[in-house]
Amino acid sequence: MSYQHILLAVDYSAHNDYVANKAKSLADIYQAKLSILHVLDNIPMPDTNYGEVIRLNENTGYELLEAEKRKLIELGKRLAIDDDDQWLVWGVPNQEICACAAQEKVDLIIVGSHGRHGLALLLGSTANSILHHAHCDVLAVRLLDN
Ligand code: AMP
Repeated sequence: MSYQHILLAVDYSAHNDYVANKAKSLADIYQAKLSILHVLDNIPMPDTNYGEVIRLNENTGYELLEAEKRKLIELGKRLAIDDDDQWLVWGVPNQEICACAAQEKVDLIIVGSHGRHGLALLLGSTANSILHHAHCDVLAVRLLDN
């Protein structure tokens, strides 16, 4: 049994490279296609007709969005990911990650997981929600907060 299409969900946090390196290693081991996705949930959506999926090869003139694009493109380059396999979409992270995985026939989603406790756990996390809603395997990489 092997994975053929791995989706790495990236949030550009301090742990990003740690999770990304694990995803790259697994993709190499399985000789799987590796895609990356960042969901734009932290900058205002401009009142334009860009749609929900942002093309990476087009300058939108919207500085905040261009900064998000640059970060994704930089990571994509470092992981040697094809341009067509780098996605930037507007929305709610857990929903978009699961929807994208289903649409692109992903068989493994990789996310970071903080191992929250107490109230934070009750409020839920992106990793937890994906684990409950994804139709494929999910690897939650344990992140240690110091
Ligand atoms: P969280 O529980 O929200 O801290 O996020 C845990 C993991 O979910 C992160 O390590 C990422 O893998 C993924 N994630 C969170 N937010 C986003 C986002 N905006 N876009 C893509 N992936 C995300």
